[in-house]
Amino acid sequence: MEKVLCLDIGGSSIKSGLVDINGNILQENKNIIKNESYNGFLETVEEIVNNLDEKPAGIAAALPGGYDIKEDTIFAPNLQILNGRHIKTDIEKMCGIKVLAENDANLAAYGEYVFGDKKSVQNMVFCTLGTGFGGGLILNGKLLQSNITLFEVGHLSINIQGRKCGCGRNGCLDEYCSTSGLTEIYKEITGSNSNINPYILSEKAKNNDNAAIKTFEEYGKLLAFAFANLAALFCPEKIKFGGGLSELSYYYMASLISEFESLLFPAYKGRVKIERAVLKNQAGMLGGAALYFGL
Ligand SMILES: [Zn+2]
Repeated sequence: MEKVLCLDIGGSSIKSGLVDINGNILQENKNIIKNESYNGFLETVEEIVNNLDEKPAGIAAALPGGYDIKEDTIFAPNLQILNGRHIKTDIEKMCGIKVLAENDANLAAYGEYVFGDKKSVQNMVFCTLGTGFGGGLILNGKLLQSNITLFEVGHLSINIQGRKCGCGRNGCLDEYCSTSGLTEIYKEITGSNSNINPYILSEKAKNNDNAAIKTFEEYGKLLAFAFANLAALFCPEKIKFGGGLSELSYYYMASLISEFESLLFPAYKGRVKIERAVLKNQAGMLGGAALYFGL
């Protein structure tokens, strides 16, 4: 059966797997990107391809940034060695295999959709909650794509006087609904400046620490605000969220749902479901395969 090599390119490593049309993943691996250079990056890709048991029909690359499909260039704030490079053309030349490239959050959205919701849902918003806030949009059963990556949802602002974002604006969701956004809430509530991470916060909440419980409640409300904005634009049948922070949804789901219901545009009441993603960190690879196979 024909297989596509899916690459999920992160800030310091590349996850990879050979995926067939049914979404089965073989030869799953994680390789550290060599010597923090673009050549090192290409060498790492070459090594992944050379170690496969069979030659793939194609390569699908999930990229950590905005991708210009026409120019084959990327803006990757967390992996600057890729900036300005022609990643698709260079891998095709090096490996002699056709490459499909797209933004990682968009591909994760499509993976979640095709391998989870396609039968019952037409329009879906997908958000990833992690070190940043990313997303993708499925409209009428198709991933919304254009010449350049669309749906940079992390850079919608929810506070014009809010914290400064890496993009230059204030109050972006990237700063508020991400890992650092969550821990900032805790620091504001407690007035403490000590280092804390989401996992420790969840342990505290489990042990009935009031500040930690309140932190997750406030986080759920911010997320509800973001989701209500997205619902007002697209009225999707479903808003799904994945990424590292989705693993802790137990602690904020109740506040997210109740706040979302109260903020949702009245005409859309009862039409927008909120759900946690199911594919975890394989969503990007599966989305790459789904797009490659035209699913
Ligand atoms: Zn921003």
